[in-house]
Amino acid sequence: MNYDVIVVGGGHAGIEASLSAARMGNKTLLVSMLAENVGATSCNPAIGGLAKGHLVREIDALGGEMGLITDEAGIQFRILNQTKGPAVRGSRAQIDMDKYRIIARNVILNTPNLDLAQDTVLSLIVEDETIQGVKTALLNEYRAKKVIITSGTFLNGIIHVGEIQQVGGRFGEQTSVGLSASLKEDCGLNMARLKTGTCARVDSSTIEFDKMEEQAGDALPNPFSFRTDREEFQKTKNQLPCFIAYTNESTHNIIESNFYRAPLFTGQIAGKSPRYCPSIEDKIDKFPDKERHHLFIEPQTSDNTECYINGMSTSLPPDVQRDMIHSVVGMENAKIVRYGYAIEYDFVDPRELKHSLETKKIKGLYLAGQINGTTGYEEAAAQGMMAGINASLALDEKEPLILRRDEAYIGVLIDDLVTKGTNEPYRMFTSRAEYRLLLREESADTRLAHYGHALGLVPDALYEEVKTKDSQIKYGAKRLEEIKFTPNKEFNALLESMDEAVLKDVSTAQQLVARKSFTVEKMLQIVPEFEKFDDYIKEEILVEGKYARYIDKQSQEIERMKKYLKIKIPEGFSFTGVSGLSTEVQEKLAEFNPPTLQAAMNISGITPAAIEILHIYIKMAGRK
Ligand SMILES: Cc1cc2nc3c(=O)[nH]c(=O)nc-3n(C[C@H](O)[C@H](O)[C@H](O)COP(=O)(O)OP(=O)(O)OC[C@H]3O[C@@H](n4cnc5c(N)ncnc54)[C@H](O)[C@@H]3O)c2cc1C
Repeated sequence: MNYDVIVVGGGHAGIEASLSAARMGNKTLLVSMLAENVGATSCNPAIGGLAKGHLVREIDALGGEMGLITDEAGIQFRILNQTKGPAVRGSRAQIDMDKYRIIARNVILNTPNLDLAQDTVLSLIVEDETIQGVKTALLNEYRAKKVIITSGTFLNGIIHVGEIQQVGGRFGEQTSVGLSASLKEDCGLNMARLKTGTCARVDSSTIEFDKMEEQAGDALPNPFSFRTDREEFQKTKNQLPCFIAYTNESTHNIIESNFYRAPLFTGQIAGKSPRYCPSIEDKIDKFPDKERHHLFIEPQTSDNTECYINGMSTSLPPDVQRDMIHSVVGMENAKIVRYGYAIEYDFVDPRELKHSLETKKIKGLYLAGQINGTTGYEEAAAQGMMAGINASLALDEKEPLILRRDEAYIGVLIDDLVTKGTNEPYRMFTSRAEYRLLLREESADTRLAHYGHALGLVPDALYEEVKTKDSQIKYGAKRLEEIKFTPNKEFNALLESMDEAVLKDVSTAQQLVARKSFTVEKMLQIVPEFEKFDDYIKEEILVEGKYARYIDKQSQEIERMKKYLKIKIPEGFSFTGVSGLSTEVQEKLAEFNPPTLQAAMNISGITPAAIEILHIYIKMAGRK
């Protein structure tokens, strides 16, 4: 009953936390309510998406599992935002959700140092503000120096379907009451309530797909994991289509005339919902003039038994759900297998955490995933990975691994949470990252695999591959910078889509590549030696070439910020006089009186922009 690390909850955070802790050599226990629901996808049968795809790649680069499981369980792969810049593209996969769970559980069961126990944690054992272990419903008492809680939406979960309310952490599952009370009472953590919701699932055989638009996966599917053999994957992956349907006037009338029964509007639900992932009743309420809303009909398994109606999350009563689904073209006769519902649950104010995800109040207690106010499998898995790593490093009395905002989306996610907190379910967006161009999905391995390797989570052979890739891209980018170019007739023909005037101010191959209409094929005509590289390396060289100027600028900004952070704030400096800083920020700085800009940056709510302003004022004060 004695472990090094105990992880509570086998969701997406718990999987990565327990695997990383065990793989780093610690005797680890994963306690979860239901063994068969390890890796369950509570909501949509999909992994990745805009900015979330970045997180999956980063987890993978650190040696995590989510990308690998997705590649195996995936049934459709698409890169979203293909027509936009490389920084904001995002990979997304539909998954066979049953297969995903089975693979996840098998990985857990086959990992050395890792035990799985089906049980419910009722309370935490805390002595002298230090975690000692957990007590469970089966009267087991497990002891460990580090405990990671990843209990998702289960803390005091209440489910709403119209007027009906049930307790539960997910439909049909128990809720977690004791653990929530223990976090509050034994640990003194500040907690509040949030809400999320899901749509109905429909029997696929009762949908008339020929009345809908088909949406196929990418012709050449891109795997998530750097460890998946790309060529083999592209040759062998079978993909299923999704379908697009629309709500209509009749759907909107049904929903609107039942607003008075919607828990969201009657005051039955008090928790704050995710703004960017609204329920259908919310959309009809907020955009009354919109004639229709998109619905994506997504298969939940590879044999397409049930479909998920993406875009129709709801907690309206079952009779209203039936009517509104039947009003959609193609679903007139659809049979509902599971009704949509909303769930309210407790979460811990993430400002209770250090950047390592350890709580400030209780030594050795870490929190990761939805419990910290986030939403999404990927956000949860990213935190789980870092909590597992940091709990393990702490056991070895080593410094925690804290990824910076300019290094990883994971760094942005955790920094946002622990410094600013959140009062609505937090999801990742590319717009949250200041240095998007440096944090592309494709560069996750070259940015982060060295950490995974140093921690023993990325094997030597794989790390060697990453190093080769990195050096090939760097070589390619340098070559583009070196090759001097003089426009001539031959090239004008080659670049027929380009304006001659534009070509006149092009002096290096890099500048040429930076042009919008420039493609890999054209680049190869100028630099045929790049033919020898794999296709994705050629793409990366092109991206590096296209955005070299901006990438340089962002790198310089980062260096500048690093220098700023070392600057001392003069004694007696008056923060209240700094115009450009909000009164709230001025007051916070005055309260903490940080001795350096680095110390100022560590204060919750202080942004890099605020540091820039402070820097200018300190310089001016110095001159005076
Ligand atoms: C109805 C619903 C709708 C959602 N909609 C969306 C959406 O639209 N978009 C989106 O991105 N995300 C959505 N989510 C959230 C998504 O499911 C979570 O973000 C993600 O699963 C969180 O992962 P996690 O690991 O933190 O927790 P979870 O995946 O919730 O896993 C928690 C695990 O902890 C276990 N557990 C809890 N308490 C205990 C205990 N005391 N003892 C032992 N085990 C315990 C549970 O059994 C479970 O296995 C939704 C979730 C629900 C339930």
